[in-house]
Amino acid sequence: MQTLQHLSKHIVYLTPVQKTDRPVLAAVTGNKKTLLIDAGNSVGHAQLFQDELLKHDINGDLLVLTHSHWDHVFGLEHIRIPVICHEKTYQHIKEMQPLSWEDQALDERVEEGTEIPFCADAIKLELGRNREISMPLPDIRFEKKLTIDLGDVTCIIDHVGGDHAKDSCIIYVPEEKTLFLGDCLYANLYAEKWNYTAEQASRLVEKMEAYDADTYILSHHDQPCTKQEMEAELNLMKQCTRAVVEHRGDRAKIERDLATEANRELTEHELETIGFFVNGYVE
Ligand SMILES: [Zn+2]
Repeated sequence: MQTLQHLSKHIVYLTPVQKTDRPVLAAVTGNKKTLLIDAGNSVGHAQLFQDELLKHDINGDLLVLTHSHWDHVFGLEHIRIPVICHEKTYQHIKEMQPLSWEDQALDERVEEGTEIPFCADAIKLELGRNREISMPLPDIRFEKKLTIDLGDVTCIIDHVGGDHAKDSCIIYVPEEKTLFLGDCLYANLYAEKWNYTAEQASRLVEKMEAYDADTYILSHHDQPCTKQEMEAELNLMKQCTRAVVEHRGDRAKIERDLATEANRELTEHELETIGFFVNGYVE
């Protein structure tokens, strides 16, 4: 059951669904305009969000895409307002437009390695039998950074890239000290083994640390992250980027190193993260 959450005076969001890979959809409302974040993974998803917003008298004026993965853009057909995205997001949507999303085509792409089972399964589950996807191209493109004044609240859209997707953008709302991360902090899932690279991860951490936020929204997390939680996460990323290079991708050594530093046993999440860094390590 997805519900609209009131995060703060200017921000509401629709909770994610893990099973069908529905990401968080959000709206930032100022006294002039409302910016929506992401189009959803289907017309049904986009429609649900619009219905929920209407119940609260919120109408989107503009929409921004965090990146071009299917679950953030398949709802575009339903969007009737100007859409903003990074140049690379635009290009990727263009590349996806001619693709078929029928079982056979999906299975073939999984077989050849251009699609992953995780997404193919979620696409089948979310879309059911109707696999006709029409994604209109976004209206406004940018390269680096874009600031939108919504009236007493601002959104800074910043291209950060990273391992998960080269086109990842984050949206910072300074007045609310809130940072929408999209999927940028997640690993690269479009690879044989899910992975982080030390180089991309350290660049990303640096970019994120430039923003002073108290609340972080990750698109597939059920709850927003607090400042403390994000500090711990970024710290883990930093430790991994150091240790994976220092121990040349030797998993056992990295685990021992981090456990010694923490002076306790490592958590499941920490072990998983180390594994992703090991997967991404190349001599
Ligand atoms: Zn993604």
